[in-house]
Amino acid sequence: MQSLSRWRSRAGRRVVQAATVLALAVAIALSASAGTLQPLENVLQNAGFAMRSHAASGQIHVVEMDAASVAAIQRWPWDREHYARVVERLDEAGARTIAFDVDFSTASDREQDDRFAAALADANATVILPVFGQRGSFAEKRQLDSLPIPQLREHALLGSVSVSPASDGLVREMPIGTFNADAPRPSLSAQLAQRSGVADDDFPIDFSIQPDTLPRHSFIAVKMGEFDPATFAGKDVIIGATAIEMGDRYATPVHGVIPGVIIQALAAETLLDGVPVEIGWALPLLLAALFAYAIIAARSRNRILVQFGLGATLVFALLHFGASEFALRIAIAPALVMLIAAALLRWAILVREDFEEARLVDAESGMPNRRALERAAATHDRSRIVAAMIDEFDAVKLVIGQDAISDFLARLQDRLRVAGCEGPIYRIDDRALAWVSSLEPLELESRLLGMAAILRSPVEVRGSRVDIKLTFGIADVNAPDEALHAASQAARHGECFAYHEQAQKSALDQQLSLMGELEEAMEGDELSVLYQPKFDLRAERITSAEALIRWRHPVRGDLRPDIFIPLAEETNRIDELTLFVLRRVIDDVREWRKGGLEIRAAINISARLITSADFTARVESILLEDRVPADRLIFEITESATIGQFDLACSALRRFRDLGVGVSMDDYGTGQSTLSYLKRLPLTELKIDRSFVQHAHRDHADALLVSSTVELAHQLGLQVVAEGIEEEACLDFLREIGCDYAQGYFIARPMSADAFFDTAQTTIARAA
Ligand code: C2E
Ligand code: CA
Ligand code: CA
Repeated sequence: MQSLSRWRSRAGRRVVQAATVLALAVAIALSASAGTLQPLENVLQNAGFAMRSHAASGQIHVVEMDAASVAAIQRWPWDREHYARVVERLDEAGARTIAFDVDFSTASDREQDDRFAAALADANATVILPVFGQRGSFAEKRQLDSLPIPQLREHALLGSVSVSPASDGLVREMPIGTFNADAPRPSLSAQLAQRSGVADDDFPIDFSIQPDTLPRHSFIAVKMGEFDPATFAGKDVIIGATAIEMGDRYATPVHGVIPGVIIQALAAETLLDGVPVEIGWALPLLLAALFAYAIIAARSRNRILVQFGLGATLVFALLHFGASEFALRIAIAPALVMLIAAALLRWAILVREDFEEARLVDAESGMPNRRALERAAATHDRSRIVAAMIDEFDAVKLVIGQDAISDFLARLQDRLRVAGCEGPIYRIDDRALAWVSSLEPLELESRLLGMAAILRSPVEVRGSRVDIKLTFGIADVNAPDEALHAASQAARHGECFAYHEQAQKSALDQQLSLMGELEEAMEGDELSVLYQPKFDLRAERITSAEALIRWRHPVRGDLRPDIFIPLAEETNRIDELTLFVLRRVIDDVREWRKGGLEIRAAINISARLITSADFTARVESILLEDRVPADRLIFEITESATIGQFDLACSALRRFRDLGVGVSMDDYGTGQSTLSYLKRLPLTELKIDRSFVQHAHRDHADALLVSSTVELAHQLGLQVVAEGIEEEACLDFLREIGCDYAQGYFIARPMSADAFFDTAQTTIARAA
């Protein structure tokens, strides 16, 4: 039952956690789609570039139209023979590709153009000339191209070189190809790296390639042939302007403002590693959601950190190895935001829980405090609160010292637990502990008396022995102050406990309503009668039984007779109840007899019934129905019953005796009467109370009392029953001193009529 509800609350918690993660994921996915996370993504990607920063492959060389070249050639635009010369030089050196990032869209001097065209025509290397594209209008997808003049483009491939910065002005991407008026055209970098892809699909430039590791050569030096001829063999060369005054420069992430030709080279280098595939953010977000779930479920800050660390590492590893090993471009900002959000949320919840918990704990003792009690009380409606006030607490403090208070309170708690206090114990006040009790009032009262008794011996705290006295106050569950007040009232009057008025009233109400229900219980089948065997020590078998009533209450569960018998007595329902048991016992004995089992059955008769003429008459008329012989029955009465009105009691008992019923004195030893006094009562049996019997086999005083009682009782002609036998040694002892009957858990617990029949049959069979 309890584990089921624990399971339920665990399942409930899981649902809430999963829902939280889902909600976070949805919110993050929405803002990722809206582009809100792009700035963060850029920062993360830059970090990724920095992480895998590496040198260029060396395949792509840059021939820079640099300051030195500008200084050497001087006239701008340069005569095309310079370019022709460079092409020849590179071609001689065995370059594989020669690409220009230089605008040749307008004709120059005829001779110069012819010269350049001839060089292009003669080159063995693949020559690529640039097409500069511009968007026709803002909404236009197609480019308006400006092509090299026809004379030049005859001998060359064309590659588009448009560079389009993102909205923040930084160049991050490059197209694989662009659309011109009639056909898609590959970009210069795609041509150079010999990669193909979808035109108009941009790929991210890999800025982890360090631009300054690109092999670079001054244009003028190449033109003059001032280079090692082996340098360009099989290489791809881009020629373009790097001189500042030529103005072809763009801002990039990580590397700042760099010349367009370097960007082209980086783009080509990127494509050499493979065309990057963009994975987007959904997959890493999904992965992060798994870690976020673990974070949301974390019970400690350390676990949050561990799960967050694992998740973030995984996300960065994805970014890193995806890019370096598989040319994947993965967006991780949403995933990281997910992890951060989950961690912050969980952290905040734990901080709040700690704070809440601290609010519920008494700092000095570490016990739950009054606030905790008030919170707990909210979930108990039928219960009461018991406040236990420590008398002379200031004196106790003086004896043990302030430091030892929490030790003292811990000892005190131990004692209370031993005495049957269940559930949490709260410290609701400097000098008062409290707990919630759902016991029935009478049971609670007897529990409190027990506690007071157990507390009578001093507790030991750090070597000093401290006497404690507790006074209890009982109030409704939501009224700790009233419980405290009741406790101090009790202390003032020297009582062990007191009810607060309201609690007293509700206790009474509860009892009265219980009594109202008793009638229904008798009509329905909530009441039952169990039988506890009495073992005949001479015959070594079961010859009789004590009938014990049970009430299985539909709401409150099994109620012990200790709770409702006194109530039934107070509310004058005990006669009905006893007659109910009597009839049931007669039925059962009759059944047993039919089954061949001769058993005497004992019925408990309350003290106040003995002197009731009405009750006696009704018993008499039932017995006269003659369903079983009256001598099959024994009435058990307690001695208190006889003390008050001795003569009346005496004549009532005699009436029963005359009918043939046996009369047993129950709980003998707990009252004040002596055997000689009892001698004057018409008894057939004496039942020694279990408090004497239980330890008789090892307690000398008890042994003496029991054995002398047995002896004297025998002299008076009474049979002796010892009750409460819980150990074999005890049974042996009783046998030894000649006791007649034994009853107790060691022999058997109370059981149903059918079970009793079977048990009794077996012992008879065994004895025979
Ligand atoms: P009792 O007459 O002294 O009954 C014996 C009680 O001791 C029973 O508790 C029984 O279960 C318990 N007991 C038996 N063997 C052992 C043992 O070895 N160790 C211990 N610790 N206890 C043992 P139960 O049934 O809870 O009854 C409690 C009391 O309620 C009875 O005490 C009796 O006074 C009263 N009672 C029970 N049934 C009736 C009834 O039908 N009518 C009346 N008037 N009172 C009843
Ligand atoms: Ca009894
Ligand atoms: Ca008894």
